[in-house]
Amino acid sequence: MEDSRDLTETDVSVELESLERAFASVTDQLRSSIDKSRISLPESANEIVLAQLAILDDGSLREKVRDRIVTDRSGAHLALRIVSDQYVDLFKSLDDPHIQEKAADLQDVCDRLLNSLSGKAPMVDIPRGSVIVAHEIWPTTLLSLSDSAPAAIITETGGWTSHSFILARELGIPAISGVRNATKRLTTGENVFVDAVNGTIVTDHNYELPKYQTAASSATIELEQLETRVKLSDGTTLQLLANVDSPEKCRETFATGVHEIGLLRSEYLFSFNGRLPDESTQTEMYREIASDADGKPVAIRTFDVSIGQIIAGDSRRERNPALGMRSIRLTLKYERQYRAQIRALLRANVNGNLSIVIPMVSGAADARRVRSLIESEFESLHSKDSRLKIPSVGAMIELPSAVLTVDQILDEVDFVCIGTNDLVQYTLGVDRDNETVADWYQTLHPSILRSIRSVISSAADANKPATVCGESAGSPFYLPLLLGLGVRRLSMNPSSIPSIIKYVQDIDIVECQRLAEKLLTYSSSSQIEKCLAEFCFAIWPELSGSRVNFPPSTISKF
Ligand code: PEP
Ligand code: MG
Repeated sequence: MEDSRDLTETDVSVELESLERAFASVTDQLRSSIDKSRISLPESANEIVLAQLAILDDGSLREKVRDRIVTDRSGAHLALRIVSDQYVDLFKSLDDPHIQEKAADLQDVCDRLLNSLSGKAPMVDIPRGSVIVAHEIWPTTLLSLSDSAPAAIITETGGWTSHSFILARELGIPAISGVRNATKRLTTGENVFVDAVNGTIVTDHNYELPKYQTAASSATIELEQLETRVKLSDGTTLQLLANVDSPEKCRETFATGVHEIGLLRSEYLFSFNGRLPDESTQTEMYREIASDADGKPVAIRTFDVSIGQIIAGDSRRERNPALGMRSIRLTLKYERQYRAQIRALLRANVNGNLSIVIPMVSGAADARRVRSLIESEFESLHSKDSRLKIPSVGAMIELPSAVLTVDQILDEVDFVCIGTNDLVQYTLGVDRDNETVADWYQTLHPSILRSIRSVISSAADANKPATVCGESAGSPFYLPLLLGLGVRRLSMNPSSIPSIIKYVQDIDIVECQRLAEKLLTYSSSSQIEKCLAEFCFAIWPELSGSRVNFPPSTISKF
């Protein structure tokens, strides 16, 4: 690969040949990916691949790059980068969503060509049972890697509430994030033990598996027919719900006896690749979910994505994507596309078992705006199909502004979901995906305890359900605290439900209430963590030695 200018005649011919080979190889890759899409919507995935094949076939991209190589005497790599940047800049200057989609396709094709020119292999077949070690893994990559049934995943970046790790837990893949220099310290072919419970990676062949693994497996409950409505010692009922991210997981989860999906993140149902899925594709997907649920409730959250996920290149302009054009702000900006998602959800709600959850609500005005969109779309659809039922509408409480105004938000919605993953991020101003500030990501910070208590009590006053649906809902360590704060609906990764059912049997609610009162008096997360750990270890000695918060990761080399 030649990146410089002023090539000789021979170099020019070599670069032109490399370019031809790259076009041929990317065309092959794309053709063979048709119909192999693992993510649930082959039609939309195929449409994207076909659009990208058309760019390769059309000839104008190839001609422009060839011209550059010949006239500027520059290498294929540099020529392609210049041409692709020119195209993408041109497309982005036109504020039209269809053109933006084209820009996304073009960008993707050029990235593949650049990859091929650099001699990098496309996503390779990874042997089943491998431990994958990477700097960073995107949720979509994780979904495609899951086909090779990895034994475990280790990354240098990310935190325990990063989406890739939430998905890994859902897929049952042990995963450890934030392991500094893992790609340098571990070598391909090396045998490693990955202890995802304690966050430890060991490369010693004589290593003995720690005791807790036996404890964890003996704690496994028969997965068939779980009892997810649990009577507590004070006579109230704790409802255990599931967070799922695919129709398959939804079916599997209901088959185990779970009676309600508390959070379905709709963005994981589709492969975006620079565009939002169209209305009919979405309608089909939501209908499948609604009918498989067979009348059981499913709360579907509308797209919680950043602009970079739907418009190629725009992420570069966002200095602070978590605070930028994302989630409900983004979908309200692209109202035409948001209405399409709402209509698709409404069309699927013939049995009345779907509800809609609004992410990243900052106050009552957001909720009111979405509610009125839902109502206006419902009116027009219902006039043509009277079988349709108006869904209940809920708000994610994950911003401090939402906590402070939750009583007003509750006037606009039918239920609320406390998203502790983001609530910690936004309350403490700490990036949940940034391992270097993981010590400041404190789910047990006094502000979080106060926030949960306040939301639960406002919801009780309004007589409306409140569910905790961040990752904390599925950890036994948080269970006594959340119960003591009055939480009675916990929505978690399905894989956590059996152990939570087991642990909750040992719990006395009056003691939990006393514990919560005491914890609320502390002024630091370390005091809270210490006291909570003592409480938990006294009831469940098998957990002693484990850390209450997800542990920092270490690699032991022998
Ligand atoms: C949360 O923020 O706690 C949540 C449940 O949603 P997500 O993890 O998708 O942001
Ligand atoms: Mg969230």
